[in-house]
Amino acid sequence: MLMTSSKQATQAFGRTLAETLCPETLVTLEGDLGAGKTTLVQGILAGLGARAPYPSPTFVLMNQYELPVLTKTGIARVYHADAYRVGRDDFEKLGFLEWCADPAGLVILEWPERLGNLVPQNKTVITLRSLSETEREITLETKEI
Ligand code: ADP
Ligand code: MG
Repeated sequence: MLMTSSKQATQAFGRTLAETLCPETLVTLEGDLGAGKTTLVQGILAGLGARAPYPSPTFVLMNQYELPVLTKTGIARVYHADAYRVGRDDFEKLGFLEWCADPAGLVILEWPERLGNLVPQNKTVITLRSLSETEREITLETKEI
């Protein structure tokens, strides 16, 4: 568990976290609107060396980034998805499970609760909670079957 007191601090945490992430991994982000999920992902994307800008995928559902340079752990692309506006069937049709099975891919998903049991058990679960206008509590848990 960690606390940040600015958007910049949350992004800095994302950049550090990026170094530990491996390909064929799913990272889910839970937390209310404005909790800082997209902000944290922007830090992760910067840490992975993805080309900016890093817009929110709320309306497009998924932004795909081909990394200019493979990360040390072997990540070649990132799928940043947001299920807030849709449901399980839409994501299944979009190819969510194929993204998760990409041997060189990292999937980062906001609003996993919208997808129910489509979301694999193997994942890193990050939860963000607003404590005040500028303070956020961030917890991280790796789940494996
Ligand atoms: P979400 O994707 O969870 O809906 P966003 O990342 O889009 O949230 O928005 C978070 C908002 O909270 C931004 O406007 C950001 O500037 C603000 N904010 C304030 N303090 C923090 C913090 N410590 N960490 C992340 N965002 C923060
Ligand atoms: Mg968001």
